[in-house]
Amino acid sequence: MHAEDDKIFQQGLSRLKKPVLPLVNMVQFLYLTGPFATVGEVLGRVTKAVELEGVLYEDPRQMLAEYAAFLNEFEVIKGKKKLSAALPFIVNEKDEPVAKRQALELWIKQEILSRELEAINSMLCGPCGCVLCCTGPNSAFDAASGFRGRMKQEFFEIPLADSEVDLFTLARIDTEASRSRTVLSDPPLQLEKAPFYKHEMALYHWKNGWSLILPEGSVCPQLSKDTQRCMVYTKRPGVCRKPQIFAYVLEKTPDTAKRSDGKLIPVYMARNKVLAVWDCPYVRKFQDEIGT
Ligand code: SF4
Ligand code: SF4
Repeated sequence: MHAEDDKIFQQGLSRLKKPVLPLVNMVQFLYLTGPFATVGEVLGRVTKAVELEGVLYEDPRQMLAEYAAFLNEFEVIKGKKKLSAALPFIVNEKDEPVAKRQALELWIKQEILSRELEAINSMLCGPCGCVLCCTGPNSAFDAASGFRGRMKQEFFEIPLADSEVDLFTLARIDTEASRSRTVLSDPPLQLEKAPFYKHEMALYHWKNGWSLILPEGSVCPQLSKDTQRCMVYTKRPGVCRKPQIFAYVLEKTPDTAKRSDGKLIPVYMARNKVLAVWDCPYVRKFQDEIGT
């Protein structure tokens, strides 16, 4: 790595090299084996520097503070509180149900890791000057983003929550035909005798919600041509915040399971991995740091 890289990526790299999970494991262990009624009591004690897995954490309490809400969920194990969010049904890779306590641990770790990686992504993405996530395949920005070659995809999809649709002033396709399909339906939605992705960039209302479709060569209308920055950064859609190094502790499956009260809940599979998207320049640049 060059000295210049050292400077502009310093903040993100230092977060990458100091993962929060070893601290989370320590807090979990102390809480479950110690005489603590709440996780907050444990957090109040971890005031000194600690070395875990070869990494020195100067101020564990400060580092853990932003994850306190997730860590408090461990209190469910001691019967001190009820789970705030409905826990999904979790199976292992052999499709066998995972015990409730382990399921809770996996769920908490998925949430914490996702939050941590989202922050690291924002720190590493900005200095890259890359806009691959904001453009359709094979746009004029590909080379500037460090992507060499030709993308095979016909379009990129940015799924949107209902509240995010108004961020974009674009044509809306909201018909019976669109609402009876998903973006992956085969055959694809046809508009004027051509697949939808052969048309101009637009907002589509599918069976499973809205999405912005970026066909080949297109650029998100909220990407400033002058600064190459997102013009709605603080309000950008949830999916635009998702990291290119992402938590894969749990994978959502298409299945549902019936809870004891008869409610259908999603089924997740325990994977216990972190994955990275290879097209992303910072993933390629920092593959060694990500792999450690
Ligand atoms: S909304 Fe912003 S972050 Fe999301 S694709 Fe458009 S320009 Fe990129
Ligand atoms: S590919 Fe990576 S660096 Fe490029 S915009 Fe997406 S997250 Fe940022």
